[in-house]
Amino acid sequence: MTEKGVLIKMSVRAETPVQYTLNLNDHPVLMNNLIGQTIQIRFSGYQCLSCGATRKIFRQGYCYDCFYKQPDVGEWVIRPELSKAHLGLEDRDLAYEKEAQLQPHVVYLAESGGAKVGVTRKSQIPTRWIDQGASRAVAIVETPNRYLAGITEVALKKHISDKTNWRRMLKNEQSGMDLMEIRKRLLDFVPEEARPYILSDTLRETHIDYPVTTWPSRVVSLNLSKTPEYSGTLSGIRGQYLMFTDHTVFNIRSNEGTVIELTWPG
Ligand SMILES: [Zn+2]
Repeated sequence: MTEKGVLIKMSVRAETPVQYTLNLNDHPVLMNNLIGQTIQIRFSGYQCLSCGATRKIFRQGYCYDCFYKQPDVGEWVIRPELSKAHLGLEDRDLAYEKEAQLQPHVVYLAESGGAKVGVTRKSQIPTRWIDQGASRAVAIVETPNRYLAGITEVALKKHISDKTNWRRMLKNEQSGMDLMEIRKRLLDFVPEEARPYILSDTLRETHIDYPVTTWPSRVVSLNLSKTPEYSGTLSGIRGQYLMFTDHTVFNIRSNEGTVIELTWPG
Protein backbone atom coordinates (compact mmCIF):
# COMPACT_ATOMS: atom_id res chain seq x y z
CA MET A 1 0.00 0.00 0.00
CA THR A 2 1.12 3.56 -0.58
CA GLU A 3 -0.11 6.66 1.17
CA LYS A 4 1.10 10.20 0.57
CA GLY A 5 0.83 12.97 3.12
CA VAL A 6 2.56 15.59 5.21
CA LEU A 7 4.43 14.32 8.28
CA ILE A 8 3.19 15.28 11.71
CA LYS A 9 4.39 13.56 14.84
CA MET A 10 2.98 10.10 15.46
CA SER A 11 0.15 9.89 17.94
CA VAL A 12 0.88 7.54 20.80
CA ARG A 13 -1.10 5.35 23.15
CA ALA A 14 0.47 4.52 26.49
CA GLU A 15 0.15 0.75 26.32
CA THR A 16 2.77 -1.95 26.88
CA PRO A 17 4.45 -1.54 24.51
CA VAL A 18 3.57 1.98 23.28
CA GLN A 19 1.24 1.99 20.25
CA TYR A 20 2.20 4.40 17.45
CA THR A 21 -0.09 5.74 14.74
CA LEU A 22 1.16 7.83 11.83
CA ASN A 23 -1.64 9.89 10.29
CA LEU A 24 -0.86 10.45 6.62
CA ASN A 25 -3.47 12.43 4.76
CA ASP A 26 -5.97 11.45 7.49
CA HIS A 27 -5.20 7.81 6.80
CA PRO A 28 -4.08 6.25 10.11
CA VAL A 29 -1.21 3.78 9.77
CA LEU A 30 -0.63 1.68 12.91
CA MET A 31 3.17 1.62 12.77
CA ASN A 32 3.57 -1.22 15.29
CA ASN A 33 2.14 -3.55 12.63
CA LEU A 34 4.97 -2.65 10.25
CA ILE A 35 7.78 -3.78 12.56
CA GLY A 36 9.66 -6.59 10.82
CA GLN A 37 8.41 -5.39 7.42
CA THR A 38 10.25 -3.55 4.66
CA ILE A 39 8.88 -0.08 4.10
CA GLN A 40 9.80 2.71 1.74
CA ILE A 41 9.89 6.45 2.46
CA ARG A 42 10.00 8.77 -0.54
CA PHE A 43 10.52 12.52 -0.25
CA SER A 44 7.77 14.39 -2.04
CA GLY A 45 8.16 18.06 -1.06
CA TYR A 46 7.13 20.32 1.79
CA GLN A 47 3.88 21.68 3.15
CA CYS A 48 3.88 24.27 5.95
CA LEU A 49 1.64 23.04 8.79
CA SER A 50 0.17 26.52 9.15
CA CYS A 51 -0.20 28.23 5.75
CA GLY A 52 0.11 25.10 3.60
CA ALA A 53 2.73 26.73 1.37
CA THR A 54 5.01 24.27 -0.39
CA ARG A 55 8.08 26.27 0.64
CA LYS A 56 10.97 24.68 2.48
CA ILE A 57 10.27 24.07 6.16
CA PHE A 58 12.24 26.34 8.50
CA ARG A 59 11.53 24.81 11.92
CA GLN A 60 8.95 22.67 13.69
CA GLY A 61 6.84 22.09 10.60
CA TYR A 62 6.51 25.77 9.73
CA CYS A 63 7.86 27.89 6.88
CA TYR A 64 10.07 30.82 7.87
CA ASP A 65 7.25 33.40 8.01
CA CYS A 66 4.89 31.19 10.01
CA PHE A 67 7.62 30.21 12.46
CA TYR A 68 7.96 33.87 13.46
CA LYS A 69 4.17 34.46 13.59
CA GLN A 70 2.53 31.36 15.04
CA PRO A 71 1.73 31.65 18.77
CA ASP A 72 2.51 27.99 19.46
CA VAL A 73 6.22 28.38 18.66
CA GLY A 74 6.99 31.54 20.65
CA GLU A 75 10.29 31.47 22.53
CA TRP A 76 8.45 30.60 25.79
CA VAL A 77 7.69 27.15 24.34
CA ILE A 78 11.37 26.11 24.35
CA ARG A 79 12.22 28.39 27.28
CA PRO A 80 9.25 28.16 29.69
CA GLU A 81 10.88 30.64 32.07
CA LEU A 82 10.10 33.39 29.52
CA SER A 83 6.34 32.80 29.93
CA LYS A 84 4.50 36.04 30.69
CA ALA A 85 0.78 35.24 30.45
CA HIS A 86 0.58 35.08 34.27
CA LEU A 87 1.49 38.81 34.22
CA GLY A 88 -1.10 39.50 31.50
CA LEU A 89 1.70 40.26 29.03
CA GLU A 90 1.45 39.19 25.40
CA ASP A 91 4.17 37.56 23.35
CA ARG A 92 2.29 36.82 20.10
CA ASP A 93 -1.33 36.08 21.05
CA LEU A 94 -2.32 36.59 24.68
CA ALA A 95 -5.51 34.51 24.50
CA TYR A 96 -3.54 31.55 23.14
CA GLU A 97 -0.74 32.06 25.67
CA LYS A 98 -3.14 32.26 28.61
CA GLU A 99 -4.76 29.03 27.57
CA ALA A 100 -1.41 27.26 27.09
CA GLN A 101 0.56 28.71 30.01
CA LEU A 102 -2.03 29.14 32.78
CA GLN A 103 -2.66 25.48 33.39
CA PRO A 104 -0.91 22.87 35.53
CA HIS A 105 2.66 22.15 34.47
CA VAL A 106 5.04 19.49 35.69
CA VAL A 107 8.80 19.54 36.04
CA TYR A 108 9.99 15.97 35.72
CA LEU A 109 13.04 13.81 35.82
CA ALA A 110 13.39 11.23 33.05
CA GLU A 111 15.85 8.63 31.87
CA SER A 112 16.31 8.96 28.12
CA GLY A 113 19.91 8.01 27.39
CA GLY A 114 20.86 9.58 30.74
CA ALA A 115 18.91 11.43 33.42
CA LYS A 116 17.41 14.79 32.40
CA VAL A 117 14.91 17.34 33.64
CA GLY A 118 12.09 18.72 31.54
CA VAL A 119 8.86 20.72 31.66
CA THR A 120 5.50 19.75 30.24
CA ARG A 121 1.85 20.56 30.60
CA LYS A 122 0.36 18.09 33.05
CA SER A 123 -2.18 17.07 30.39
CA GLN A 124 0.74 15.91 28.19
CA ILE A 125 1.87 13.21 30.61
CA PRO A 126 2.83 10.55 29.61
CA THR A 127 2.71 11.62 25.91
CA ARG A 128 5.64 14.00 26.37
CA TRP A 129 7.75 11.31 28.05
CA ILE A 130 6.97 8.86 25.25
CA ASP A 131 7.78 11.45 22.54
CA GLN A 132 11.20 11.89 24.15
CA GLY A 133 11.80 8.17 24.32
CA ALA A 134 12.13 8.09 28.11
CA SER A 135 12.28 4.62 29.64
CA ARG A 136 11.45 5.92 33.13
CA ALA A 137 10.16 9.22 34.48
CA VAL A 138 8.93 10.80 37.68
CA ALA A 139 7.39 14.21 38.40
CA ILE A 140 9.15 16.61 40.77
CA VAL A 141 6.85 19.62 41.09
CA GLU A 142 3.42 20.44 39.74
CA THR A 143 2.94 24.19 39.34
CA PRO A 144 -0.20 26.16 38.43
CA ASN A 145 1.47 27.81 35.43
CA ARG A 146 4.30 27.44 32.93
CA TYR A 147 6.45 30.24 34.34
CA LEU A 148 6.92 28.59 37.75
CA ALA A 149 7.78 25.29 36.08
CA GLY A 150 10.23 27.16 33.84
CA ILE A 151 12.16 28.85 36.64
CA THR A 152 12.32 25.51 38.45
CA GLU A 153 13.81 23.83 35.40
CA VAL A 154 16.36 26.63 35.01
CA ALA A 155 17.43 26.11 38.64
CA LEU A 156 17.61 22.32 38.34
CA LYS A 157 19.50 22.21 35.05
CA LYS A 158 22.53 23.70 36.77
CA HIS A 159 22.76 20.29 38.44
CA ILE A 160 21.51 17.90 35.77
CA SER A 161 21.14 17.81 31.97
CA ASP A 162 18.02 19.12 30.26
CA LYS A 163 18.87 17.41 26.95
CA THR A 164 17.95 14.00 25.61
CA ASN A 165 21.00 12.08 24.42
CA TRP A 166 19.19 10.63 21.41
CA ARG A 167 22.01 8.37 20.25
CA ARG A 168 22.27 6.69 23.64
CA MET A 169 18.48 6.57 23.91
CA LEU A 170 18.15 4.79 20.55
CA LYS A 171 20.87 2.28 21.44
CA ASN A 172 18.99 1.65 24.70
CA GLU A 173 22.03 2.51 26.82
CA GLN A 174 20.59 2.77 30.31
CA SER A 175 22.39 4.85 32.88
CA GLY A 176 20.95 2.69 35.65
CA MET A 177 20.64 5.87 37.72
CA ASP A 178 18.33 5.89 40.71
CA LEU A 179 15.81 8.55 39.67
CA MET A 180 14.18 8.73 43.10
CA GLU A 181 17.56 9.38 44.69
CA ILE A 182 18.38 12.12 42.13
CA ARG A 183 14.93 13.58 42.66
CA LYS A 184 15.52 13.80 46.40
CA ARG A 185 18.87 15.53 45.84
CA LEU A 186 17.37 18.03 43.37
CA LEU A 187 14.60 19.13 45.74
CA ASP A 188 17.12 21.34 47.59
CA PHE A 189 17.50 23.44 44.45
CA VAL A 190 13.80 24.09 43.73
CA PRO A 191 13.39 27.89 43.89
CA GLU A 192 11.46 29.44 46.78
CA GLU A 193 8.44 30.46 44.66
CA ALA A 194 7.92 26.88 43.47
CA ARG A 195 8.56 25.06 46.75
CA PRO A 196 4.85 24.94 47.74
CA TYR A 197 4.29 22.82 44.63
CA ILE A 198 6.79 20.04 45.34
CA LEU A 199 5.00 16.72 44.95
CA SER A 200 4.98 14.08 47.65
CA ASP A 201 7.92 11.66 47.57
CA THR A 202 5.53 8.72 47.67
CA LEU A 203 5.26 9.17 43.87
CA ARG A 204 6.29 6.17 41.81
CA GLU A 205 8.34 6.09 38.64
CA THR A 206 6.49 5.51 35.39
CA HIS A 207 8.08 2.82 33.22
CA ILE A 208 7.65 2.91 29.45
CA ASP A 209 8.21 0.02 27.03
CA TYR A 210 8.75 0.60 23.33
CA PRO A 211 8.02 -1.75 20.45
CA VAL A 212 11.58 -2.68 19.47
CA THR A 213 12.78 -6.10 18.32
CA THR A 214 16.53 -5.35 18.20
CA TRP A 215 18.46 -2.36 19.47
CA PRO A 216 21.12 -0.94 17.13
CA SER A 217 24.78 -0.75 18.15
CA ARG A 218 25.20 2.49 16.17
CA VAL A 219 22.73 4.85 14.55
CA VAL A 220 22.75 6.83 11.30
CA SER A 221 20.14 9.51 10.83
CA LEU A 222 18.13 9.50 7.58
CA ASN A 223 18.15 12.90 5.88
CA LEU A 224 15.55 12.95 3.09
CA SER A 225 17.06 15.99 1.40
CA LYS A 226 20.20 13.91 0.79
CA THR A 227 18.51 10.50 0.44
CA PRO A 228 15.12 11.20 -1.14
CA GLU A 229 14.22 7.55 -1.36
CA TYR A 230 14.89 5.05 1.41
CA SER A 231 13.87 1.43 1.91
CA GLY A 232 14.52 -0.58 5.04
CA THR A 233 13.18 -3.14 7.45
CA LEU A 234 11.59 -1.51 10.48
CA SER A 235 13.09 -2.93 13.69
CA GLY A 236 11.33 -0.73 16.20
CA ILE A 237 10.03 2.65 17.30
CA ARG A 238 11.12 4.77 20.26
CA GLY A 239 10.35 8.39 21.00
CA GLN A 240 9.41 9.77 17.60
CA TYR A 241 12.09 7.70 15.83
CA LEU A 242 11.58 4.89 13.38
CA MET A 243 14.50 2.46 13.67
CA PHE A 244 15.65 0.14 10.89
CA THR A 245 17.74 -3.06 10.84
CA ASP A 246 20.53 -1.34 8.84
CA HIS A 247 21.10 1.18 11.72
CA THR A 248 19.19 3.94 9.96
CA VAL A 249 16.90 6.02 12.19
CA PHE A 250 14.28 8.51 11.04
CA ASN A 251 13.01 11.23 13.35
CA ILE A 252 9.39 11.93 12.43
CA ARG A 253 9.26 14.96 14.74
CA SER A 254 12.14 16.80 13.13
CA ASN A 255 10.66 16.11 9.68
CA GLU A 256 7.25 17.62 10.38
CA GLY A 257 6.03 19.54 7.34
CA THR A 258 7.82 17.18 4.93
CA VAL A 259 5.54 15.46 2.45
CA ILE A 260 6.35 11.79 1.96
CA GLU A 261 5.04 8.75 0.19
CA LEU A 262 5.06 5.77 2.50
CA THR A 263 4.87 2.30 0.96
CA TRP A 264 4.39 -0.86 2.97
CA PRO A 265 3.49 -4.47 2.19
CA GLY A 266 -0.12 -5.63 2.37
ZN1 LIG B 1 3.72 28.87 6.48
